[in-house]
Amino acid sequence: HNHIDNATPEKVQAAIVADDTHAHLPEYQDFAAYTSSGGYTTLAELRTGGDFETVQQTLLDSGLRGLGGAGFPSGKKWGFVRAEKGPRYLAVNGDEGEPGTFKDRYYLEREPHVFLEGMLIAAWAVEAERCFIYMRDEYPAVLEILRREIKALEDADIVAERYIELRRGAGAYICGEESAMIESIEGKRGLPRHRPPFVAQVGVYNRPTLVNNVETLYWVTRVLREGGEILSGVEKNGRKGLRSYSVSGRLKNPGVHLLPAGSTITDIIEAAGGMLDGHTLKAYQPGGPSSGLLPASMDDVPLDFDTLQPHGTFIGSAAVVVLSDHDRARDAALNMLRFFEDESCGQCTPCRVGCEKAVKLMQADTWDQPLLAELCTAMADASICGLGQAAPNPIRLTMKHFADEI
Ligand code: SF4
Repeated sequence: HNHIDNATPEKVQAAIVADDTHAHLPEYQDFAAYTSSGGYTTLAELRTGGDFETVQQTLLDSGLRGLGGAGFPSGKKWGFVRAEKGPRYLAVNGDEGEPGTFKDRYYLEREPHVFLEGMLIAAWAVEAERCFIYMRDEYPAVLEILRREIKALEDADIVAERYIELRRGAGAYICGEESAMIESIEGKRGLPRHRPPFVAQVGVYNRPTLVNNVETLYWVTRVLREGGEILSGVEKNGRKGLRSYSVSGRLKNPGVHLLPAGSTITDIIEAAGGMLDGHTLKAYQPGGPSSGLLPASMDDVPLDFDTLQPHGTFIGSAAVVVLSDHDRARDAALNMLRFFEDESCGQCTPCRVGCEKAVKLMQADTWDQPLLAELCTAMADASICGLGQAAPNPIRLTMKHFADEI
């Protein structure tokens, strides 16, 4: 926890400088330590006679879903890609650009090989000819760890040289959208593609491509080593599984908190040491800015996939930000739209012009609610990708729950 939770600009700078000297990487489980505790035996067993259907069934039974935010059942996705004609590729989404999300970094800076083994198991499952890891450049320590540990895998002949390609993102939020990420991997500007065709059919270099998030692959290894019950055996509020909530805001102990998937904001605040002294809960962002803000009165909703749809939002990558009575929801919502305005790729008009227009309207003392509602409809209905489609969420939810502020 300490490495992330106590990060200051000075420490971040020190880590960047240390990247050249290899002196200040966090303590993590390296290749030798991982293999001496049984690491890579699951992969070796699968490579020498593993059965895809059995592995797929284990994943489906565990309930593992895509933890980048979409929540699609992992076993099903593997089956779709495997059914396409080869050659096939695997691309790992390590862009982790959703503000407030830092769980992938948390796992990569501690147990990189649990993720790497999961990636190679996925590559085995879809018979991928190559693996691309798209990793955000803002994580210099993670990049250095991966460079070293991929080299260790090559030296141990677990993978051929250049079988795994580490690609650095360049700070564009939109490159976390899977089809934009694929464009970026191909060396082009990261513009989301129209679908269909889906990336499972036409992905990297027009080949069928499995795209999985870092944390999803981390759990693949754990499920296959420890059994699917580590996820399916955890039940709370009618939900099954575990969620790595990235928790920040007005809390005593922000950080990554691994909790049952049915946890409510009350449970999450408790796990994070409670509210800061002198602060009471006012609102919370359940899953990144695209999910907008919910009021404190909604403190009994399980924060999981599917449970937030009736409330006009979603859990996404489980990036929870807690606001208190010292904050205004309208300021946070405006900040979210400013972010989307900055990060819109500009490819389609509803999003490019809509985000800019929304920011202007939200700066007024009194919001023009009918006009904003109309703008939200146009953006949600007519934008090409999730950025423009979900950008209205903070506006809509602020109008619904925090009308007294606007
Ligand atoms: Fe680009 Fe926004 Fe259109 Fe997505 S919705 S393609 S980010 S302009």
